[in-house]
Amino acid sequence: MGVERKCPKCGTWNQENDNCVSCGELLSPQKIEEEREAVREKIRQSTPPPALDVFLAKWKNSRFWLLRVLYKIIRTIAFIFLGIASFFAYLAASPNG
Ligand SMILES: [Zn+2]
Repeated sequence: MGVERKCPKCGTWNQENDNCVSCGELLSPQKIEEEREAVREKIRQSTPPPALDVFLAKWKNSRFWLLRVLYKIIRTIAFIFLGIASFFAYLAASPNG
């Protein structure tokens, strides 16, 4: 005696089939889980990295020295800017002003 599964889509009762005999809907819980995992994996792989990272990575690996220099300058400016910003944040948080 096998397990009977009712198709959630069309309501047809199936034997131990992986797919509904009537409409082809996936019925095996194990197969459904595998399918879900495959979809998740696909989404993980297709999710693009942040645009700025890609943009800067292009510059970093660029054949043009100018872009490589620009990349370093931008990085340095960003670093200094963050340093200044945190310095002001420190001043603002200081009770002595
Ligand atoms: Zn069905």
